[in-house]
Amino acid sequence: MPKTPTTPKFMSFPPTPVTTDNVRTKCRELLVAALKTDVNQSSVAVVLNSFLDARIYQDFKSTDMKYKARLRSRISNLKDQKNPDLRRNVLCGNISPERIATMTAEEMASAELKEIRKALTKESIREHQLSKVGGTETDMFVCGKCKGKNCTYTQVQTRSADEPMTTFVLCNQCGNRWKHDFCCKG
Ligand SMILES: [Zn+2]
Repeated sequence: MPKTPTTPKFMSFPPTPVTTDNVRTKCRELLVAALKTDVNQSSVAVVLNSFLDARIYQDFKSTDMKYKARLRSRISNLKDQKNPDLRRNVLCGNISPERIATMTAEEMASAELKEIRKALTKESIREHQLSKVGGTETDMFVCGKCKGKNCTYTQVQTRSADEPMTTFVLCNQCGNRWKHDFCCKG
């Protein structure tokens, strides 16, 4: 279980900016509801959401479409059941109200999605490095792009030891890279 969030830094800020604007009041209520989804931190949420609202209001100076769109994207991300980390980080102050007020959709995306993206990036970097270092020159492959036969290949055990090696081929002529599957293509 994660530790109960400690009192965030912004709790010591001057009193919450007061608003009499109906749209802003409604948005604050929605933010409080979003933040209360899985923790009972209503007082924190009230302070936080008001600062958040004030920060976004500063950017637009009105409660127009852009203001509402910005608020709506924050609310839906904070409410997202698949994204508890965002909510927790906002509630414990790891993500400041100023930060959450201006984060992009990508930045707010669920931790799960972030992990998948990270893994994909790592995999492609690894493939790139592996096919670059070492390698044996050969004329047994034909490049799909330039039809050249001057290639360098590297074989790597990417999965478990009893599975076939993965062969990465680099065309020395045009730089084309591909994976060659010996099992299927013979
Ligand atoms: Zn080529």
